[in-house]
Amino acid sequence: MPNANFGSVDRMNDSTLLQASDIRMAFPKPDGGELLVLDGINLELREREIVGVLGRSGSGKSTLLRLIAGLAAPTAGHVSYLGERVVGPARGIAMVFQSFAIFPWLTVFQNVALGLEAQGLPRPEIRQRSLAAIDMIGLDGFESAYPRELSGGMRQRVGFARALVVHPNIMLMDEPFSALDVLTAETLRTDFLDLWAEGRMPIRSVVLVTHNIEEAVLMCDRIVVFGSNPGRILAEIKVTLTQPRNRLDPGFRELVERIYVEMTARPAGAVPSRGGVGLSTVLPRTSSNLLAGLLETVAAAPFNGSADLPKIAHDLQMEIDDLFPVAETLQMMRFAEVGGGDIRLTEAGVAFANAGVDERKRIFARHLLTHVALAAHIRRVLDERASHVARKSRFVDELEDFMSEEAAEQTLSAVVTLGRYAEVFAYDDDRATFSLENPV
Ligand code: ADP
Ligand code: MG
Repeated sequence: MPNANFGSVDRMNDSTLLQASDIRMAFPKPDGGELLVLDGINLELREREIVGVLGRSGSGKSTLLRLIAGLAAPTAGHVSYLGERVVGPARGIAMVFQSFAIFPWLTVFQNVALGLEAQGLPRPEIRQRSLAAIDMIGLDGFESAYPRELSGGMRQRVGFARALVVHPNIMLMDEPFSALDVLTAETLRTDFLDLWAEGRMPIRSVVLVTHNIEEAVLMCDRIVVFGSNPGRILAEIKVTLTQPRNRLDPGFRELVERIYVEMTARPAGAVPSRGGVGLSTVLPRTSSNLLAGLLETVAAAPFNGSADLPKIAHDLQMEIDDLFPVAETLQMMRFAEVGGGDIRLTEAGVAFANAGVDERKRIFARHLLTHVALAAHIRRVLDERASHVARKSRFVDELEDFMSEEAAEQTLSAVVTLGRYAEVFAYDDDRATFSLENPV
């Protein structure tokens, strides 16, 4: 609907339910610095739409949901909801979480009714609304069951019912399908979309947080593509495919491809194209099997050195949270270039894929020590010490000058994986120490 008051402070129009403006969120770090998690986020939520927030793990999606729900306050910027600034938990905004956040000692009915208890409604109304929500979401007959008696899919339905029972204006869903098996997840998605299309759910708008590209294209009217470090909006994509959507439809595949392109567009200053990876870089989680596996797959026919990431993801059944960290590690180590939704092996990447075991280790070690500063640093410390031993905590402390504790742990565990595979150092998990015990 064209708006009458465009240009007002919040640029709100008639159908705007919620607006997040210039959001910035930083958390304090142990060393007194700050960890910037969200920057320059502008997001508008309108009547009757499902908006997807798509991004990798750690890109700040859950943080954004908490800000929208008023569960935390942004460092800068503000959220307005129905024209009023959000301060504190906002009424009429309900959340569904990834994990089945329901109480094991309460029955399905009690878990759902709990959503309403706080509102002080008359008993009969609580009962009537709870039963209606249970019925709608497909839990009819399970009212007196305990969560332990339910499958994961049914438990997640309880999570949905508990959000619906309050008749929220906005339903925020934080990766609600990601802990479910493939079939159950698809059933729940389809059921949800059917209810939504029929207009039966007492909700006006939905925000769906996901790291699953296809899920976003399947369900959303609009997708906000997030980049990481700090979380920011890379692109906003309108999805005009009619529902129900078909994953095999060419228009569907085109959108998936476009999102890959957006997500692999290298932001200025992200991974430097020259000069390697500094100590301040958070290393992605990875496994040596996946690294070697991806190199081999891309090197082999039919790809012959260059592959479309969506195709690879599909062939190897990998989600972006698995595929991107591996592709990025290969990029950091100069075994591949990632961009435009593609991965292309470098000469070294091809050489690695074609080499035997020993030669692979040599190539890998050389690239690791040349391009990953942390690996070179650990090796140098070990070389310099007479004992050739160093505690992990020493490196964690160093990394925490640059990154969060969690990121430092992840980075150390990634460098352990890479260093072990390259045999440039050893790591003893029991003693939490690096050493030169095995390497040559
Ligand atoms: P996502 O949901 O996209 O996986 P999150 O919003 O959970 O991402 O987290 C984004 C980043 O913010 C992560 O690096 C995480 O460690 C950090 N973070 C989230 N909450 C806090 C907090 N309360 N204190 C410090 N850091 C936090
Ligand atoms: Mg999250």
